[in-house]
Parts: sequence; C-alpha cells; structure tokens
Amino acid sequence: MSHSNRPVPSSGHDRMALVPFPQRDHPRRPSDRVAAERAARELLTALDIDVTDENLAETPRRMVDAYAELLTSEPFDATTFPNDGAYDELVLVRSIPFHSLCEHHLLPFIGVAHVGYLPGERIIGLSKLARVVELFARDLQVQERMTSQIAGWLQEHLDPKGVGVVLEAEHLCMTLRGVQKPGTQTLTSALHGLVRDDARTRQEFLALARDDPRG
Ligand SMILES: [Zn+2]
Repeated sequence: MSHSNRPVPSSGHDRMALVPFPQRDHPRRPSDRVAAERAARELLTALDIDVTDENLAETPRRMVDAYAELLTSEPFDATTFPNDGAYDELVLVRSIPFHSLCEHHLLPFIGVAHVGYLPGERIIGLSKLARVVELFARDLQVQERMTSQIAGWLQEHLDPKGVGVVLEAEHLCMTLRGVQKPGTQTLTSALHGLVRDDARTRQEFLALARDDPRG
C-alpha cells in the first residue's frame, strides 16, 4: 500500500512532538569571561600545567575565546517563500561541512550533513539549510540530538511534506582516546513525513545522500 498520496502523516508530527529539541533563539555567549578565564587557569593548574610559564600566560584567555567561538552561531533570517512553482521533488543539499563539540568530553566531532526536504507550501533559501546545521552544531551536542534538531527545525519552520537529515562524523573522543579507532565514521539519520513513510521517496533521499563524489 502506498502512502504517497497522503499529506504528511500525523504520526510524523506526533513523534516529533515527543522529541525534546530545545531551541536557542539567541547565540550563546560566555556570560562571565573573568570567571571563565580563572576557571581555565585552575583547570590547567590542576592538570599539572605550569600556567606561570610566560608562553602560557594568555592560554586561559585563548581557551575561553576558542570555546566561545565554537559555541556561538551566527544569527540568520529564517525567511521562507511560497512554493509558487509547486515544486514537488526532493530538495537536497549534500556534504555540508560542520564541526561540533561532544557534550561528554568537550572534544570536537567533525563531519558532513546531508539535509533534504520535500516541499509543501513553502520553500527556503538553500544556504539556510547550512545555517540550520550550524545553528545546532555550535553547541555541546550528541550527534543523535543534533540530527533530530535539524530535522525538527525544518519541520517546524517549513511544514514540508517530508524531511531527511543524515549526519556523518568522526568523533575525536573516540578516535584520539578511549578505543582509538581513527577514521571511524558515525552515521545518524532523522527522516520525517513522506521521506520516512513513502518507500520511493525514502530510497531516493538515501541514494542522493549517499552519492558523495568524494567517495
Ligand atoms: Zn565524547
């Protein structure tokens, strides 16, 4: 039985509603730089690093700057447009590079996102799909939550007939420490609406997301 003529299945929405994806509507900023630098200095000292060495004098400040940058995304205008041409095929932006910080170790995970949707009444500028990835990447994250947040944002702002998000990333907390398996990629996906429920659309999305010319 085909679901392709149905509107977005309500089960997709219901399931989305159960997934917590708290949205930040403002960039995160360190609220107390003095305290942050003091804490960085104490952390380094506790790790047996001599912060009185003149080469390290500015390191606590640079640590705070670096984390602040990694945790701050550029605000962007999430304007959508009417789908005047009634375009009804998948829109997919593939291999959007991103980096994020794993919330368990504060080490980076680095990879690419493939983000697609099946338009309904509205479309969105293609560059905005990369902005949405960055919005959720610049945070302490787990890859699974980031994937569902990107899909949830698109669902909420575009109300498309379907959404598909695939993330591929290398987690430095796994490849530099712990089990130390360099090059290991972690894949996560979030599929909603017809991208999940219609077999042809799902296969098309996954084939397009997989077809990376860099191999
Ligand atoms: Zn980790």
